[in-house]
Amino acid sequence: MTANTTLLSLSEIESLAAACLMANGCDEINAGAVSRVIAAAERDGCHAHGLMRLPGYVAALRSGKVNGHARPTVHSQSAAVLRVDGDRGYAPLALELGTQSLGGAAKQAGIAALALVNTHHFAALWYEIEMMAAQGLVAMACTSYKPAVLPAGGTRALYGTNPLAFGWPRSGGQPVVFDQASAVMARGEVMLAASEGRTLPEGVGVDPQGQPTTDPQAVLKGALLAFGGYKGSSIAMMVELLAGALIGECFSFEAASRDNEDGGPPRGGEFMLAIDPAHLGDGDGWQSHAELLFGEICAQQGTRLPGERRYRHRAVALQEGVAVSTGLLEKVRALAG
Ligand code: NDP
Repeated sequence: MTANTTLLSLSEIESLAAACLMANGCDEINAGAVSRVIAAAERDGCHAHGLMRLPGYVAALRSGKVNGHARPTVHSQSAAVLRVDGDRGYAPLALELGTQSLGGAAKQAGIAALALVNTHHFAALWYEIEMMAAQGLVAMACTSYKPAVLPAGGTRALYGTNPLAFGWPRSGGQPVVFDQASAVMARGEVMLAASEGRTLPEGVGVDPQGQPTTDPQAVLKGALLAFGGYKGSSIAMMVELLAGALIGECFSFEAASRDNEDGGPPRGGEFMLAIDPAHLGDGDGWQSHAELLFGEICAQQGTRLPGERRYRHRAVALQEGVAVSTGLLEKVRALAG
């Protein structure tokens, strides 16, 4: 902890986030779901999706763009396809409901898909991926956002930062989960760098004139680059298609054109896929077979499994709490009245 931070327990973070949302138009059930995600992000050291998102959440409640009293509904399109209507609310409540139904459908059919529509997504995807892994399921999820990333070779931001997440359950251990933006860096991380006065590494983005820059403010006004050049650009395009055209939701550029620019997340969708390993492959062999791979990876010095950084943070935060920037805390407390 430094002089500019204040130590909070996870329950204090969750209560503060919930109070802030309820003071600004959320009912208890919606505020509870969002604040659980915020506390989990702070717990896992993913601060770009923690308390710093509250001003944006509040702005969209105040402007009326987001329904703080949403009652999401789950509709079965078939035995293995679910559609969750978020009722114009924040995604976490719809996902809490949807992932339970998705798990049940995947266990019945072996594989199941979920289309989350009519919602507003601001958060990290590992949260819902872990909910699937907790049910013993392999899962994937992706969502789009607002244009922030250049298509390879292009000059104008078109794709969202479009994260794609994947989770693999492990018996007796934390699941292996990767969750990565299609951009070189997530926009939330760029915002964090801007608010902390840090410069960005080379190759993250360009300014509004399309010139490479390490200034986070200039990148926020300009555009980010996709990771891995044209390969990341194609993944960003795939996310637009899966979380947009496939499920009847908007592309990032459509979301931006409909958005009221209140600083909160635009309307958007999420696509999820869940697979029950018991229905595919060789009985229980999939688990030990996967452990063989994980063992080979970790046998090499300098490697680690994705998700391990978060789990390390989690272990410490559960014991000691989280050091929160005092400036941010004051801002959130002011919003909570
Ligand atoms: P990072 O680049 O920090 O990490 C991406 C993934 O790579 C993580 O799973 C991370 O695991 C893993 N990883 C990092 N370093 C290593 C390593 N050395 N070896 C193995 N694995 C590694 O994340 P991003 O900045 O790309 O994305 C940040 C978050 O932003 C995501 O959670 C994403 O869902 C969210 N996001 C949400 C959006 C929305 O609209 N809702 C839009 C864009 C992004 P670990 O976590 O353990 O470090």
